[in-house]
Amino acid sequence: VVFAEPIAHVDMDAFFVEVERLRRPELIGVPVVVAGLGKRGVVSCASYEARRSGVDSGMPTGRARRLCPDARFLAPDHEAFSSASDRVFAVLRSFTPKVEPVSVDEAFLDIGGLRLRYPSASVVGETIRAALREHTGLPASVGLAASKFIAKMASREAKPDGLLLVPAGAEVEFLRPLPVRALWGVGESTCARLEELGVKSIGDITAVPQATLKRRLGVALGAHVWELAHARDERRVETDSERRSLSVENTYEQDISGKEALETELLRHADRLASRLRRSAESARTVSVKVRYADFTTVTRSETLAAPIETSHEIFEVALRLLERAGVGDRPVRLLGIGAGALEDAAAPRQLGLDQTPWEDLDAAVERVRSRYGRKAVGRARLLASAKLQDESSQEMTEAPEDLG
Ligand SMILES: [Mg+2]
Repeated sequence: VVFAEPIAHVDMDAFFVEVERLRRPELIGVPVVVAGLGKRGVVSCASYEARRSGVDSGMPTGRARRLCPDARFLAPDHEAFSSASDRVFAVLRSFTPKVEPVSVDEAFLDIGGLRLRYPSASVVGETIRAALREHTGLPASVGLAASKFIAKMASREAKPDGLLLVPAGAEVEFLRPLPVRALWGVGESTCARLEELGVKSIGDITAVPQATLKRRLGVALGAHVWELAHARDERRVETDSERRSLSVENTYEQDISGKEALETELLRHADRLASRLRRSAESARTVSVKVRYADFTTVTRSETLAAPIETSHEIFEVALRLLERAGVGDRPVRLLGIGAGALEDAAAPRQLGLDQTPWEDLDAAVERVRSRYGRKAVGRARLLASAKLQDESSQEMTEAPEDLG
């Protein structure tokens, strides 16, 4: 058997709101808006109850308050969201390493490799939804299709808390009634220009000659819109996406300073980062170090490597160099972090260097012990000696590389 619809788009429903509801059950069933509460704040996530009043993400908070005065307005708790995001991605990667994150709560999965274990793509999708519900407590919607674009459109139609499979061959029919604004890369101005052509639905686009679209929208966008409306999308799920990065950072309750304290923390971060890379079967081509001083000024140094790395030893070596380059000296440090970017599939064939170290084997052994007996079962002597070894205080997040800068 081969799945005719091997691409899954998994998208958590009203993610920030649902994360809040996990710890505050009184928010269940009532309109909730997670938004910047300052004067220039905007909505980052609205519950479905609030959406019925017209509240939507990106809208100024003031406008949302007028539309839905009864809603509970909450400031975003990014730490809670990023740790929930980690739990979501851990569940997704337990199904397949072929996971391409799109944002904190959204990813493409290539589930083609699961065909021997599950009878159909729909069963995989429902199993993923159930696993997310069980292990994170959060609702998710899944779209299944032969291509990424259709899978994304399908999850959008499946919301909330649903699953939709668009059968291979039925894509154009599925797209026909949907609004053009739902197309990837189609913003307000493009919508307006399409409306001038009498185009409202995606189906309407297929009646317009490609040459006309190119003339009106420009060659690249015109071609893109035409291709999508005909459900042509060849992009593969890419786990080695340049956009993806991982970082581990910690804000200290008391500022830390001095070479030894900083290096110990850096080693601890490198260790965690390596552990996370191993779990997601990825390696990093760029490493960055972020330092925030007591006065909140932040310095980032990064290095792109000739070959991807994934062991804590290698990450620590590069991070040490970067810390040196940051020129911290004796200044008190409030936050220290290491980021790994330009992630690649660690299983990808790679030229073996003559200077290959046994560190990969060591890290693999450590990881095996940890996965059986827990994180603290094995660690480095230097870390065990450190009084600061507190997993709870460390925050990890998945973020876009630009966030590190
Ligand atoms: Mg979502």
